[in-house]
Amino acid sequence: MESATKAHFVLFPWTGTISHVIPMTDLGCLLASHGAEVTIVTTPVNAAIARSRVDRARAAITVTSIPFPAADAGLPEGCERLDLLRSPADVPRFFVANKGHGEAVARHCLHEAPRRQPSCVISGMCQTWALGLARELGVPCYVFHGFGAFALLCIEYLYEHRPHEAAASDDEPFDVPALPQFRCRLSTRQLPPHFLPPASVGGKALQGMREFDVAADGVVVNTFEELERGSAALLAEATGNGKKVFAVGPVSLCRSRGLDLQSTSGDARRCMEWLDAKEPRSVVYVSFGSGGRMAPAQLMQLGMALVSCPSPVLWLIKGADSLPGDVKEWLCENTDADGVASSKCLVVRGWAPQVAILAHPAVGGFMTHCGWGSTLEAVAAGVPMATWPFFAEQFINERLIVDVLGIGVSIGVTKPTENIFTAFSAGGSEAEAEAEMGMEQVKKALEMLMDQGPEGEERRRKAHELKLKAKGALEEGGSSYNNLEILIQSFV
Ligand code: UDP
Repeated sequence: MESATKAHFVLFPWTGTISHVIPMTDLGCLLASHGAEVTIVTTPVNAAIARSRVDRARAAITVTSIPFPAADAGLPEGCERLDLLRSPADVPRFFVANKGHGEAVARHCLHEAPRRQPSCVISGMCQTWALGLARELGVPCYVFHGFGAFALLCIEYLYEHRPHEAAASDDEPFDVPALPQFRCRLSTRQLPPHFLPPASVGGKALQGMREFDVAADGVVVNTFEELERGSAALLAEATGNGKKVFAVGPVSLCRSRGLDLQSTSGDARRCMEWLDAKEPRSVVYVSFGSGGRMAPAQLMQLGMALVSCPSPVLWLIKGADSLPGDVKEWLCENTDADGVASSKCLVVRGWAPQVAILAHPAVGGFMTHCGWGSTLEAVAAGVPMATWPFFAEQFINERLIVDVLGIGVSIGVTKPTENIFTAFSAGGSEAEAEAEMGMEQVKKALEMLMDQGPEGEERRRKAHELKLKAKGALEEGGSSYNNLEILIQSFV
């Protein structure tokens, strides 16, 4: 295809979390592999991550870095993601800087960029400024939430029917019958922040995101049609106005094991060598996303369950440096940080190559916070899950994993883990959280996850079936492959 006739997608990943930069960069690589021209515009810190992924995929993508006005908003220089903030009290400043960044991106796209007109803008859900920019450029604006289609469908149902408003308490379960023939029960506490009582940080920003969402021309979803029981089609119906919904995932499959490892640090090598020494499907991999942190009391209960479970465990801990001294000491005494081949519980504190870990034959189960990126990566690798949702739409994802797909065991968490929204509404201080999950309960779920009996076998069979479907979706003629083609061809 000649450059002048190529569809040109300009992507604005939500800069707040690395877990949005990752799938949007992968989406860019997929679009490029289908012959589209792709430009990713983001902040300098995130541009470095996007660039390294693009280079490893050898994709012909332009990554443009526009300075993030952190200092103008009262943040230290380089605070370009939520995980880099000093405290939850910085969150409103982050949103101010995000708005300023949008204005700088608009100046760049309208006046400074070499005039290669985009065909379409695809924007992260918090980059609400992208809509006005797309309108000025005269092109459609699609939104990429980083959520799955089932979660988005449930969110539409919640906006439309507001079942939570009739609940007697934050813990009273109610039905969210977004998918026919499936009873999804949730409590108010388990809903995404959009439906929680307005916190000083959330209210305005979340309202702006909803308005953006409603006004956007289409939705690009990291999923595949065979996975979520028709949720993508129902979402298109629910959002109305002929809004298009494109299921184009799993985008992580644009990476091969080799590509994921090239970037790697000592931590990553240690993980893979340690896994190489383990029996097939024997290891439980434990990770709660790019930044998931537990209160120290909860981490100790989890740790005691992990070291006493019969399976070897690979455990990623984020924020380990800020753990209290006695917890650090316990970790030192009871786990291995060096990757000794015979050790039973390897703890990794840095960044690990999750896609490659999940694809390793030694991994037999994944304890996850049900972030959508992790969920879909586990599906693509055919690994059953033990579900420990933290917050956002993760309790909805848990229902999908356990009840709809039958590939997970619920640990039994009922309340969200402390997060930027709850911390801020509590006055900006990290409340001292108790452990909701005791060691015995966690152990029981792990035993079920790794169970060699008929129930465990059935979960593994279903997970394997979905792995094949995920792969098929991106192969020529598969549903996601076709949806990518339709998306691109609509602009040629
Ligand atoms: N991830 C990774 N290594 C880590 C931690 C996370 O590769 O050490 C990646 C993981 O593969 C996934 C993303 O970070 O792509 C996490 O996204 P998810 O939506 O699961 O959770 P979030 O970080 O948004 O809570």
